Amino acid sequence: MAIKEENSEEKKSISFVEQFVEEDLAQGKNGGRIQTRFPPEPNGYLHIGHAKAICMDFGVAEKYNGICNLRFDDTNPSKENNEYVENILNDIKWLGFKWGNIYYASDYFEKLWEFAVWMIKNRYAYIDQQTSEEIASQKGTPTTPGTASPYRDRPIAESLTLFAQMNTPEAVEGSMVLRAKLDMANPNMHFRDPIIYRIIQTPHHRTGTKWHCYPMYDFAHGQSDYFEGVTHSICTLEFVPHRPLYDKFIDYLKEMDGTADKLQDNRPRQIEFNRLNLTYTVMSKRKLHTLVDEHLVKGWDDPRMPTLCGMRRRGYSPESIRNFIDSIGYTKFDALNDMALLEASVREDLNKKATRLSAVLDPVKLVITNYPDGKTEEMESINNPEDDQSGSHTITFSKTLWIERADFMEEAPKKFFRMTPGKEVRLKSAYIVKCTGCTKDSAGNIIEIQAEYDPESKSGMEGSNRKVKGTLHWLSVDHCRKAEVREYDRLFNTENPSADERDFRELLNPESLKVHTNCYVEDYAASRQPGEYLQFQRTGYFMADLDSTPEHPVFNKTVGLKDTWAKQSNRQ
Ligand code: ATP
Ligand code: MG
Repeated sequence: MAIKEENSEEKKSISFVEQFVEEDLAQGKNGGRIQTRFPPEPNGYLHIGHAKAICMDFGVAEKYNGICNLRFDDTNPSKENNEYVENILNDIKWLGFKWGNIYYASDYFEKLWEFAVWMIKNRYAYIDQQTSEEIASQKGTPTTPGTASPYRDRPIAESLTLFAQMNTPEAVEGSMVLRAKLDMANPNMHFRDPIIYRIIQTPHHRTGTKWHCYPMYDFAHGQSDYFEGVTHSICTLEFVPHRPLYDKFIDYLKEMDGTADKLQDNRPRQIEFNRLNLTYTVMSKRKLHTLVDEHLVKGWDDPRMPTLCGMRRRGYSPESIRNFIDSIGYTKFDALNDMALLEASVREDLNKKATRLSAVLDPVKLVITNYPDGKTEEMESINNPEDDQSGSHTITFSKTLWIERADFMEEAPKKFFRMTPGKEVRLKSAYIVKCTGCTKDSAGNIIEIQAEYDPESKSGMEGSNRKVKGTLHWLSVDHCRKAEVREYDRLFNTENPSADERDFRELLNPESLKVHTNCYVEDYAASRQPGEYLQFQRTGYFMADLDSTPEHPVFNKTVGLKDTWAKQSNRQ
């Protein structure tokens, strides 16, 4: 509910990014054309932070009748591969967005190489043969100027020869780099002769061994935007200090093109917004890689991961993710977003979508002593009371049932509206029963509960609507299936693991996965597939896991329900 209100609030005002776009449109820039791009590096899986960038990049294009292309920023072959490319495509489709074209920064390696050669020939770049440590030690600080490399003024011809050598199989990684010759005293550290090409001998996932040296991000990203005709290059705040460099390289490109005339300025405009950060998790790809590589989670699509494939497997809907992103909005300040808000959005969306089922996660037997032996009845179970079109299925009732252990108390406080001797409760979609007692083993554990049913109280029968406070879910012992249920908690124990000084691995929540193997689900549930949104009544939202088979059904708990009476009974 709260989210709905926030959403409609948010929709009324446009984001500052959209304001910039509208200003440009009003000024007739780019002939009214809008073109954005989403530029993932294929070195990992997409997470919910990327989804925020995707919603913005695709959202702006959609809203202003433009297009959004995908561009893989594949300039570092040592970390990238095709598996990541395929999964990124799959995740964007799942979120519900359609791209115009698919491009790769590697498509421009030839052009970028020519541009770099032009830079050398114009004394805008030089080959530096110092070690990376030496280069780093000369950078200076934001308040003190850096020291010029001894190679800064080497002859053009020498740099050209060495640049060619950089692109041979014999070139030794780290032996030399190409640097832009900018300004070693600039307060913006990115201007202190940034490295623009480095040697990497790992074969590239698309270009194989054709190249042996590769452009750095800053020498590929803006240029790729420019080659493609991107009008608005939307990215996250950490790129603010890169923007002058982004613009500078485009100045050079236009100088090379002979299109430096400002009147025909068709350069892309970089606009930055705040990253999405979530409580109790991490977004850094490096850390997510560590979690996977060190088997601290079961893989990129582990349902505890903040990845889109993890969230999909867990049972989050793409709409709930998009609604959440809408509700937090886009600003100029980094903040930590509350996981609880995301979960509320998931609940709100799944409430509209999920098929209601019966599952007992911690079973205890209930015998209806006055119900005939061997008799069964098919009870109608509405699939989703929030959706008239959802239909219904049947669930078999009989004398011997499973109910949740927590739904019975032998000596209950006054406000316990579940099963307790002498009191009536309704069994969902079936009868009102009155508890008559229970049986215990020698250790005092309850092994069976007894009750009597009222044959006149069947759900849907005339006059069956007698007021009873509690309604319990149940399963017929002979008409259900054993199932495994995986329940997830926060992946980390601290709210903001990225801000903690300890090794992030020490902050993992050791209880983030609980596997319940002694659960039962109705037959109808056992045939549900991954991708179908389910609600186990009174328990939460669930989805069949990829490991699920009809013989061994496995369900992920997506998120719990806000169960008001559970809260009430906690308060007693
Ligand atoms: P790394 O964690 O290695 O720095 P990255 O998350 O920046 O990588 P990219 O593949 O380069 O990964 O990201 C693609 C796009 O997604 C970029 O434009 C980036 O700004 C955006 N993006 C990444 N993380 C977030 C986030 N948490 N919130 C919003 N946008 C993000
Ligand atoms: Mg990045």
